[in-house]
Amino acid sequence: MNTTTSQTLFARAQESIPGGVNSPVRAFKSVGGTPLFINHAKGAYLHDVDGNSYIDYIASWGPMILGHAYEPVVKAIQEYATYSTSYGAPTELEIRMAELIRSMAPNIDLIRMVSSGTEACMSAIRVARGYTGKNKIIKFEGCYHGHADAFLVKAGSGVATFNIQAVPGVTAGVSTDTLTCAYNDIEAVKKICAGHMGEIAAIIVEPVAGNMGCILPEKGFLEGLRNICDEEGIVLIFDEVMTGFRLSKGGAQEKLGIDADLITYGKVIGAGMPVGAFGGKRKFMEVVAPLGNVYQAGTLSGNPIAMIAGYTLLSELNNNPSHYAELDQKTTYLKTGLTEVLQDWGQPFVINQLGSMISVHFSDVPVRDFSTASEANNDRFKKYFHAMLNRGVYLPPSAFESWFLNNALTKEDLDKTIQATRESLQEII
Ligand SMILES: *Cc1c(COP(=O)(O)O)cnc(C)c1O
Repeated sequence: MNTTTSQTLFARAQESIPGGVNSPVRAFKSVGGTPLFINHAKGAYLHDVDGNSYIDYIASWGPMILGHAYEPVVKAIQEYATYSTSYGAPTELEIRMAELIRSMAPNIDLIRMVSSGTEACMSAIRVARGYTGKNKIIKFEGCYHGHADAFLVKAGSGVATFNIQAVPGVTAGVSTDTLTCAYNDIEAVKKICAGHMGEIAAIIVEPVAGNMGCILPEKGFLEGLRNICDEEGIVLIFDEVMTGFRLSKGGAQEKLGIDADLITYGKVIGAGMPVGAFGGKRKFMEVVAPLGNVYQAGTLSGNPIAMIAGYTLLSELNNNPSHYAELDQKTTYLKTGLTEVLQDWGQPFVINQLGSMISVHFSDVPVRDFSTASEANNDRFKKYFHAMLNRGVYLPPSAFESWFLNNALTKEDLDKTIQATRESLQEII
């Protein structure tokens, strides 16, 4: 595989962009090698600047759930771009978007659009603090809620990839208001709550964790959080930036049958445009300005191009929920194929999967939280990643990321992926 143009571009990028990338995980640091520069993508395939093609399991980290350059979205963007790309004044489109989301997802009485998942999560905890008058939040080790100060404590994703512990630039004052527990450890949550009676505003959680590989909530974990929040007057925030509109129309709330108080969205909601949103039950969301006095704003929030892109994609998912059944089937098919190949290989592995989220850990114990994800043989993952890339399969460049399937993937693509895994494993001892 020739990647000379990518290599040249990466060298050039590092002259003017920190580390050559605008988001750390893209740099391939944890797997080594040179990141690929992409020229274009269509359906399930990425095409790099050297003319190589790859089956894509990142889907822009989630948004491209129906494949890249999905035609209705492209057409809608083209049409709306001619009307102007931003007004700084309301449009009917924003109402349609809010109404559509309310009709798809549970517990959304009011919803505010923002421009990223980070913004959505940082705003949601502000709402929880404003509503409860309390300061502290609980988050889980290995869960990523964006790069706002309060969340950079034991965060997964890039923070885990780069093994960053204390985060320079975040004050101790902010960090001490963030309490952490291991994912799936409800007893730890009870203990922390008991030790901080009347101090906790919110518990924020990825209902299915996707930033330490894919990790499923064990039976009773989310139910337990719901109960604790009800008993202690704590706001339960589901960070559905990954799972929203991906696991089902109504995201993890619907798929797992658990109600959150506030819900954050990103990724799929914008169809690849910079969009996020936070919403929830009326009594909480009523504190948001200008209705209430918890301030939150954005010059480009509800941007018309971003709205029409997201609205078009969500409408398609809403009108044809068979997409979810198809994605489930495809992912299960991939899981079955990978399991067979990995068993033949004979070394320990764990595959976690729910809906169209899946990940492979080279581990001999169940991967159920950040410490078990970290103990997996991530050196093996690194070799697996490169062996797959060489065979035209683009996996997330870190063992701490979930893979995302898109519905443009064909059975042939999945078979190729399984075969590539069979061959790749031969190179890994
Ligand atoms: C990606 C992600 C975020 C951050 O979203 P950005 O749009 O990158 O700011 C927050 N929470 C979760 C669960 C995510 O996966």
